[in-house]
Amino acid sequence: MVRKSTKRRPAPEQDKMIVEALRGVGRPVSAYELIEELRDKASLAPQTVYRSLDRLIAEGQAHRLESLNAFVACRHPSHEGTAVFAICNDCGTVTEFDEPAAIERLAAWARKAKFAVTQMTLELRGRCRACMAREAR
Ligand SMILES: [Zn+2]
Ligand SMILES: [Zn+2]
Repeated sequence: MVRKSTKRRPAPEQDKMIVEALRGVGRPVSAYELIEELRDKASLAPQTVYRSLDRLIAEGQAHRLESLNAFVACRHPSHEGTAVFAICNDCGTVTEFDEPAAIERLAAWARKAKFAVTQMTLELRGRCRACMAREAR
């Protein structure tokens, strides 16, 4: 489906608004939570938000957390390939970190096994430092 959009192209502004909202909340949110978040600024259809998120993910400005079915803004100015996340089960804090060596090992395994990877998701679930400290008190 190719739609000519010479006159009205709200997409770039929409993407900007959405990525800014994602950065603003600072935690993983669903598309519906994003719509709520932006309610004062715009009335967005879920389809519109999903399309924007797809573009932002493709550009590396946002990531999708598979296990939470939620989205977060990327914390890095740029990175190629896979992002790695640690997700706290207690408070929901998500930490994005780079672990190129781990990703390279997995990619190497896939090459050796002749497995064509189309998507790689690395999510660690557990308890964050702050929650561990609270527990210890
Ligand atoms: Zn990232
Ligand atoms: Zn926590």
